[in-house]
Amino acid sequence: MKNLEQRNQIIEYSLKLNSTNLSPLRSGNISLRGKEGDKEGYLITPSGKKYETLKPEDIVFMGLNEDEKNDTTNKPSSEWRFHRDIYINKKDAHAIVHAHSPHATAVSSHGKPVPPFHYMIALAGGDDIKCAEYATFGTEELSKNVIKALENRSACLMSNHGQVAFGKNLEDAFELAQEIENICHQYTIALKLGQPKILSFKEMKKVLVKAKNYKKG
Ligand code: 13P
Ligand code: ZN
Repeated sequence: MKNLEQRNQIIEYSLKLNSTNLSPLRSGNISLRGKEGDKEGYLITPSGKKYETLKPEDIVFMGLNEDEKNDTTNKPSSEWRFHRDIYINKKDAHAIVHAHSPHATAVSSHGKPVPPFHYMIALAGGDDIKCAEYATFGTEELSKNVIKALENRSACLMSNHGQVAFGKNLEDAFELAQEIENICHQYTIALKLGQPKILSFKEMKKVLVKAKNYKKG
């Protein structure tokens, strides 16, 4: 089977979506940039399948220039549009994790960016975490909104829905999605205590420089 190693990696991380409580049951989806022969594309989880039942042949390959085919037995994730558009727009995106993680989803229902109440906001690439405007799941409109919220960022919230994160590999994308969930958890606690103090633009500029060299292994 083509891309067997990548298919198995997608299954491994799909199971982690459930086991780490990052995305319960069938929610969320995962993809990896890849090739089939000369065709540039991505491998993506199928739509509506329980992660615990996934087999390598269930993972769907999609070309970057192609729409969903009607003849396949496995339908790609309903969110293939924003996965494709992220790969087209972000050359450094090699893996994408979309999750309905509890705290990120709760915060997303406010439809507002998360301000720098904590310096770790910098992990998403800037001085806030943007929130993509709401659109029905699986639509072109949702994809456009996600791409806008990801401008100069590698993760964003999706209003009344969840979050999406990308990285240079699946390990990084997954870790970033976990960090976003953790930040949103802290933010919900902070909001319960009143209005948190927000770090200045000047301070966040310093943090963003330091954050570039932070991760080691
Ligand atoms: P899929 O099963 O089609 O990937 O849908 C899950 C989801 O999270 C939709 O936004
Ligand atoms: Zn979703």
